[in-house]
Amino acid sequence: MLLICVLLLISDPKERQLPMTLRKEMMRLLEEGPRTARELSQKIGVREKEILAHLPHVVKSLAAGKHPFSITPAQCLECGHKFRDRRRFTIPSRCPRCRSERIEPPVFSACGDG
Ligand SMILES: [Zn+2]
Repeated sequence: MLLICVLLLISDPKERQLPMTLRKEMMRLLEEGPRTARELSQKIGVREKEILAHLPHVVKSLAAGKHPFSITPAQCLECGHKFRDRRRFTIPSRCPRCRSERIEPPVFSACGDG
């Protein structure tokens, strides 16, 4: 059973790109200032999807340390609807209220300003 788990972990494509280094880099950037997942992906040079996959782990590490982590929820630019009830890290594609696709993505921060 343990062996199967280990094999699954190794074959997981998310784990291939030196996850510890990537997560450290994400933490460093979040401690510097507020960032969206896209900004993190551009600065680190990995896909946004990968950032989102690692984000829960990064948050856990940040929460275990001294750094306060905060999220400014995604917001509709048309009607101002805030996506508070959504799963925290995903980026909504469309507003449920006015159906606009002009959505400001959630902003993550661990610099203590939020
Ligand atoms: Zn809207």
